[in-house]
Amino acid sequence: MLRLKPGREKSLRHRHPWIFSGAIATAEAPREPGDTVDVLSADGAFIARAAYSPASQIRARVWTFDPREPVDAEFFARRVARAVAARAPMQDAEHTGCRLIHGESDGLPGVVADRYADTVVLQLSSAGAERWRDAIVAALVGATAAACVFERSDAEVRKLEGLPPRIGVAHGTLPAAVTFAEDRLVYRADVVAGQKTGFYLDQRANRAAVRTLAAGRETLNAFCYTGGFTLAALAGGATRVVSIDSSADAIALGRENLARNPALPADRAEWCEADAFAELRKLRDRGAGFDLAVLDPPKFAPTAAHAERAARAYKDVNLLALKLLRPGGLLATFSCSGGIDASLFRKIVAGAALDAGVDASVIGRFGAGADHPVALAFPEGDYLKGLLIRKAS
Ligand code: SAH
Repeated sequence: MLRLKPGREKSLRHRHPWIFSGAIATAEAPREPGDTVDVLSADGAFIARAAYSPASQIRARVWTFDPREPVDAEFFARRVARAVAARAPMQDAEHTGCRLIHGESDGLPGVVADRYADTVVLQLSSAGAERWRDAIVAALVGATAAACVFERSDAEVRKLEGLPPRIGVAHGTLPAAVTFAEDRLVYRADVVAGQKTGFYLDQRANRAAVRTLAAGRETLNAFCYTGGFTLAALAGGATRVVSIDSSADAIALGRENLARNPALPADRAEWCEADAFAELRKLRDRGAGFDLAVLDPPKFAPTAAHAERAARAYKDVNLLALKLLRPGGLLATFSCSGGIDASLFRKIVAGAALDAGVDASVIGRFGAGADHPVALAFPEGDYLKGLLIRKAS
């Protein structure tokens, strides 16, 4: 049982799922990490049932606000089945990559699951999720009939929960190559050692958008990872795509992904393993020009505390990209930093245009796809934002 300090139940009344250590008056000891606890207001009223995490500043994460709902294996079977069912309309034979469980926004704090065809990659990142691992794996197998559930519980945030990393098969057999379809293209996800669960599924709709914009355009794809936007641009008719990433493994898989799609013109692709900041400067100094640029840098600001330094990095890279664009050129620019909201991001890009001496307009906005829902009570889930910018002709 956790009893809150007076007045500290407000965010929970608004259905926000996190309870910070500073809000707790008394915690009944001793407690094992991940144990289920009832959360009471200062005057003893039931507010929620949550997973206790003694090592974390987020001391508890809510499983349910319903006093009659027990947290047991059936609870996870219900929540997992609900999340998986909601994604059914988002998948077909040409789209077999999909996020199935998106943590807090699916009522499953600390649980992420991504489907790549017959393989589901599971990422557990909280003490509560860890405690219910077996029930979650069983629920996933039941809801998806996946041939393999592979666990990639190695996100940095596990350290904050006092959890060691765990990587390995949780069910079935891992195929030699995990491949999946997106928009009639084939990709391989490196589920064992790649970033996130192996692929950035959150950009699926935005890759489709870039595909519709790319015809006849010389394209720059900075922070390309394994070539998602590269293949999309080539499929859309880009005349040339220059792809930059600092990770040799990512570039190698990008080349492999291109080779897996023999209908695409591989001779139009140039891959460059380099620091994108340095490489964009080099391109600028050489007088290079592009008609379309995609900028999808890593999370420079995981939290608001990093926002200032991150803002400089975003501005720098957007300024360079805007300079590299020809008149009438398009820039699809993204930020996946939780610490930078859409309004701040727009200001940063506006500052970049101003300093570049470029006249430009916002002609579109991007976010994560429908398989990455954002619960209205959990605005922290709204991490991915993007702008489509047109440079004046
Ligand atoms: N757009 C990609 C995802 C990009 S993730 C997709 O759709 O799949 C961000 C990428 O930036 C990662 O691949 C990471 O390796 C790369 N990266 C991080 N810092 C970098 C830097 N300084 N220069 C170039 N690439 C960098």
